[in-house]
Amino acid sequence: MNTVRTVKVGGDYHYTIAIGADLLADGARLAHMLRGRHALVVSDGNIAPLYADRVEAALRAARPDLVLQRFVIPPGEQEKTLARFGECLEALASLGATRDATVLALGGGVVGDLAGFAAACWMRGIDCVQLPTSLLAMVDSSVGGKTAVDLPAGKNLVGAFHPPRAVIADTSTLRTLPDRELRAGLAEVVKYGAIFDAHFLHWIEGHAEALLARDEAALAHAIALSCEYKADVVARDPFEHGDRAMLNFGHTFGHAIESEQGYAGTTGEGLNHGEAVAVGMVLAARLATALGMAPTEDADRLQALLQRLGLPTAIPVGLAPESLLARMRLDKKADARGLRFVLWTGAGKACITSGVDEGAVLRV
Ligand code: ADP
Ligand code: ZN
Repeated sequence: MNTVRTVKVGGDYHYTIAIGADLLADGARLAHMLRGRHALVVSDGNIAPLYADRVEAALRAARPDLVLQRFVIPPGEQEKTLARFGECLEALASLGATRDATVLALGGGVVGDLAGFAAACWMRGIDCVQLPTSLLAMVDSSVGGKTAVDLPAGKNLVGAFHPPRAVIADTSTLRTLPDRELRAGLAEVVKYGAIFDAHFLHWIEGHAEALLARDEAALAHAIALSCEYKADVVARDPFEHGDRAMLNFGHTFGHAIESEQGYAGTTGEGLNHGEAVAVGMVLAARLATALGMAPTEDADRLQALLQRLGLPTAIPVGLAPESLLARMRLDKKADARGLRFVLWTGAGKACITSGVDEGAVLRV
């Protein structure tokens, strides 16, 4: 029998995250999330051929009166544009979508962000059900209501907070996820253990091989726990005014690496987001040990675990520390008091600090 785990996101914008095998074939569960008769499935060119028929058939069987269409973008971060956003709105128009229509975001973070933003804007906001198919989207981007598209000037510059109606994570879809994307998602899983839960970090150490081998029970456990931590932070701080910034552990360094490489991870030439975060977490942990805030052996453990998961743990060759530092100063998470970091205080613990000494940052 299939076990379905559920994680509740509380607070003012409450919704449920369901995690389990073959959930995309569960028409009753999907249909239950729809308020009206109109639904648009948004997906990308890799995922739609694999899973869109399944979702649509399940929905049609459960709701024969449904007016259902599909909008598919080419895969890749470079498609998260205002132009694609406009096309998505046009698709809602051609569907005849009313205020009770639903957008179903079937895909990774790119699809989730774009579809979520279209849902946030169509008639000033309609329901979006997130159906994440990448590990990264399951443990991070599908939860929390951040939606956006990129501009040539920078990533995620145009967007809205628009919490989903529900998140339904079908773990069976992870079987077709490319290896590199799986490992990128595992970096974010490690992040939750590193900052919130030493016991979870220990569990990941004991299940690294199972996770890499895509053992469904291990993945489901890792996703559920990650979602619990994310849900907890999001419920306390839905608009990222405070606590939610904890989730940026490894991201100040990580974003600097990604932007210095021109987000080349999507073309395979640079690090992708998860890989950059893996390097960023090691650097943040080293910074914490240099400042005397975390034990060196904890930083060593974190680095060893990321290496076992096939993730990079050092700044890519050719990137100058000074230019990374310059990028960090421009990071939107930096504030008037200077560089802002999630400072690690050892396995399972972290805090947010402003005004970190730039000399110490350069040394790590
Ligand atoms: P993210 O890592 O934020 O989820 P994307 O949305 O770009 O980023 O997804 C990463 C890549 O993996 C894309 O090329 C996407 O089409 C592909 N992908 C996502 N989920 C699956 C899946 N279950 N099977 C195969 N490919 C997938
Ligand atoms: Zn991230």
